[in-house]
Amino acid sequence: MPRVLITGAAGFLASHLVDRFLAEGYEVVGVDNFITGSRGNLEHLDGNERFSFIEHDISQPLFVHTALDGVLHFASPASPVDYLELPIQTLKVGSLGTHNTLGLALAKKARYLLASTSEVYGDPLVHPQNETYWGNVNPVGPRGVYDEAKRFAEAMTMAYHRAHGVDTRIVRIFNTYGPRMRPADGRVVSNFIVQALRGEPLSIYGDGSQSRSFCYVEDEVDGIFRLFNSDRTDPTNVGNPIEFTIHELAHIVIEQTGSSSKIVTLPLPEDDPKVRRPDITVAREVLGWEPKIDLREGLSRTIPYFRKLVEEEDAQARTLSDG
Ligand code: UDP
Repeated sequence: MPRVLITGAAGFLASHLVDRFLAEGYEVVGVDNFITGSRGNLEHLDGNERFSFIEHDISQPLFVHTALDGVLHFASPASPVDYLELPIQTLKVGSLGTHNTLGLALAKKARYLLASTSEVYGDPLVHPQNETYWGNVNPVGPRGVYDEAKRFAEAMTMAYHRAHGVDTRIVRIFNTYGPRMRPADGRVVSNFIVQALRGEPLSIYGDGSQSRSFCYVEDEVDGIFRLFNSDRTDPTNVGNPIEFTIHELAHIVIEQTGSSSKIVTLPLPEDDPKVRRPDITVAREVLGWEPKIDLREGLSRTIPYFRKLVEEEDAQARTLSDG
């Protein structure tokens, strides 16, 4: 039975990837230090004999005694709010964590997959972004800790491929959403849904004309799984190419939740990219992949997850105030 190790396994995206590998018959070793991951994302795997877990900060070397066929490095704070709060940890997990996991893949003769990001394109001057675009990143701005860590991680991955012959893959992930996101992780989809469910105003940063292209987690995981099993070594965009302004997103969330929330405008964070949209020609041609779940459908699968969390929090608050 093939066995893969996945870092960041308790995070939103990697926990879904763990599920996919288990469903495909793999054994999975999850690694996480829970700085942004949640134990609850792995609770459903209690008692699953093909899943094991190591609590560990992957910025420190990790020694594993069993054979591994794959190492997938997904550990990192990934929401702007998180990586602004954890700048050094973000730089370390992207640099030292990538070095450590590549070393592990080399030692185990395992295939390696790096979770990279559309942030390597920065505030892009080419639109949509294809994989040959080198990007427009401010290395010393507040987002630089994430963007440069991931750019370094890509460079390190290609160096291990070229110098040591490690069989590597690099996925550039574009804004992904779905169940298991943390309600307070600060990203736009989670913020808007939680605000709408609470009847609070939706917080648009800037004038809301900036755009993003949102990919439902099941589609994203399918693209990543296909890339892992492909022969493609060069970086590959995996994201949904349908682009929305943040203003449009706010209105869709209000409509889909049936909320009476209004909109409030807050300052735009520094270096916030003005546009983002993947060119997925490579993923289409090489992986035979394209997203199947559009934004409205994806939101309708995500809103019930947040609704349950909000109701639980409200019930808890009532109990506390009654007691
Ligand atoms: N954003 C917003 N309101 C929020 C959170 C985010 O208007 O409550 C904007 C943010 O400024 C950015 C976009 O939504 O332009 C996407 O932000 P997110 O943090 O989800 O991810 P990013 O793509 O910036 O990494």
